[in-house]
Amino acid sequence: MKIICIGRNYVDHITELGNERPDNPVIFMKPDTALLRNNDPFYYPEFSKDIHYECELLVKIKKEGKSIDPKFAHKYYDEIGLGIDFTARDIQSHAKEKGLPWERAKAFNGSAPISNFISKEDFDINKTTFELELNGEIAQEGDSSLMLWPVNELIAYVSQYFTLKTGDILFTGTPKGVGPVKIGDKLVGRLEGKEMFNFEIK
Ligand code: MG
Repeated sequence: MKIICIGRNYVDHITELGNERPDNPVIFMKPDTALLRNNDPFYYPEFSKDIHYECELLVKIKKEGKSIDPKFAHKYYDEIGLGIDFTARDIQSHAKEKGLPWERAKAFNGSAPISNFISKEDFDINKTTFELELNGEIAQEGDSSLMLWPVNELIAYVSQYFTLKTGDILFTGTPKGVGPVKIGDKLVGRLEGKEMFNFEIK
């Protein structure tokens, strides 16, 4: 399986990082070795001094498709979840400055903690709220209605370049409020108020 991530999908997050609003969705990927499940702890890596959390709504692909029409995109997923796109911001800033790829900053081991997935039926995918709590305080609040490109358009766009396969996971971008984590921090993610993950930084 592959993990496809979208960058810069919320205006207020683009502004907080001082980035330009893109003409098309920004896409990058993480390998399956980035996955972290079952509330396993995240071990702070030696190679970075500035790991940031980015809480994101996830979509799990349920069947193979390419060049999917946005109006049929909803047929390609049944389940949604919540995850963190951990980012080594120091490495990413350096890469951006030099015009180099982001993989070391984004795709490292454990950089993609994910929740279990739940049926999308109880949600309006274009109006789903989520939040990240860091040590008991709300750090991020997201609402999919604020995405520059809604989920179905993302699926259509991504599938023009990469055939989507069963089990692939789409990270749909982070809202504002990203920030650093440190050892001992506790992260709790909720989707429409329902706890989805709860793990520690070690
Ligand atoms: Mg992200």
